[in-house]
Parts: sequence; structure tokens; C-alpha cells
Amino acid sequence: MSALDTEPLSIVEMATRELRRAIVDGSLQPGSPLPIAELSSRLAVSHIPIREALKRLESEALVQLPRGRAAVVTAIGDQDLADVLRIRAVLEAETLAAAVERASAVDVAAAEARWEELRVSAGTTADDLLALDRAFHDALLRPAMTPWMSRLQATLWPTTDRYLHLLLRSGTQPSATWLQDHHEPLLQAARDRSPSAAREAVRTHFATEAQLVAPLLPADC
Ligand SMILES: [Zn+2]
Repeated sequence: MSALDTEPLSIVEMATRELRRAIVDGSLQPGSPLPIAELSSRLAVSHIPIREALKRLESEALVQLPRGRAAVVTAIGDQDLADVLRIRAVLEAETLAAAVERASAVDVAAAEARWEELRVSAGTTADDLLALDRAFHDALLRPAMTPWMSRLQATLWPTTDRYLHLLLRSGTQPSATWLQDHHEPLLQAARDRSPSAAREAVRTHFATEAQLVAPLLPADC
């Protein structure tokens, strides 16, 4: 489909998605410049939607827009990794604690179904696994989601996705069921309707991810 076939909003959305994907999967490297003219010819759209896409990605912390200079891909690093996962742990520990108390049997069954899908099989890409991971966490937190949590997640999740992509594409996953094993304590807290188990499981979940990702960070960041 040519860019002219779509409404202006969807051109922006398409450019945002394309750039987000390239930043998350590392094809646009941390710290690399994002010249508008180059992106515009690469995505075959005019400068205006590229500018708008970069602003949206700035609000997701994937891009920095220094005054008077070209946009750059936000850097990643040890401290940033630890920070973003610690903040997610704090927010989601309380949200999951509330969710497991409020969850109906249907909510728990929906989380179970998403958890069943968290399998690594031949041909499953890192992008697929990220989508499955998000679907599981969404299902689990849904009973306690609020507009503020959605806003905070929209800021925190794209950066988490960048770090998890490093892990999921590294080929270091020990077994086909490791993702299920890694997520099961979260689900178990929902099955048991235990807020204290939920808090503990969330803290362990993100601390484990920080430990697994840290050795995979590029040496120069
Ligand atoms: Zn997860």
C-alpha cells in the first residue's frame, strides 16, 4: 500500500510502529542518530509524519529530541535497565495484588489461557514472544487496571520490550517451557487469590529479568 492510500493519521501510526519496532529489535542501535530526511526516504513518507512519529516515540522514552539537533535513539544501560524494571515491579506489585483480589473465575481462566501460549517453539520469534508476554501480563492485571496505570505502562513497556528483546533473541533460553516457568508464580498468585504472593512474585519476576538481561547489554553502553 502506498502512503497516499491512507489517511494522514495512519501514516503517522505506520511510521511510529515501524520506528518503534526497529528500536525495540535493535536494528536501530541505541544512541544512533535519526535524521528526518533519511527516515522519510526509508519509510517513503514526508517529513511531517516522521516528526510526529518521533514525538510519539519520545513520549515512550525510545527517542530523545535534543533542541536544534537530530533525534537520537535513547541509550540503554545497566542503570536504566535496573531503574525501569524496579519501577515496573513497584507499580505492578500493587496492581497485581489488587487484581488477584478482584479477579473473577473468568479473569483467572483468561490469564491461564494466555499463560498456556507462552511457549517457545521452532519458528517463534522474539517479537512473537514479546506479544505473548504482554498479552499474559495484560490479562493478569486487567481486573485492577486504571487509566493512570495504562498511561504509566505506555511509558514503561516499550523500554522494557527493548531489554526483553535482547534476552528473547539471544538464544540463551534454557528450554521450551522456561517462559511459562518464569511466569507461573504470577499466575499461581491469581489462582490462590493471594495479594502477598502476588507482590512477591512480581518483585522476583522483574529482578530475575534484570539479572538475565544485564550480561547481554552491549559492552560500550
Ligand atoms: Zn513477563
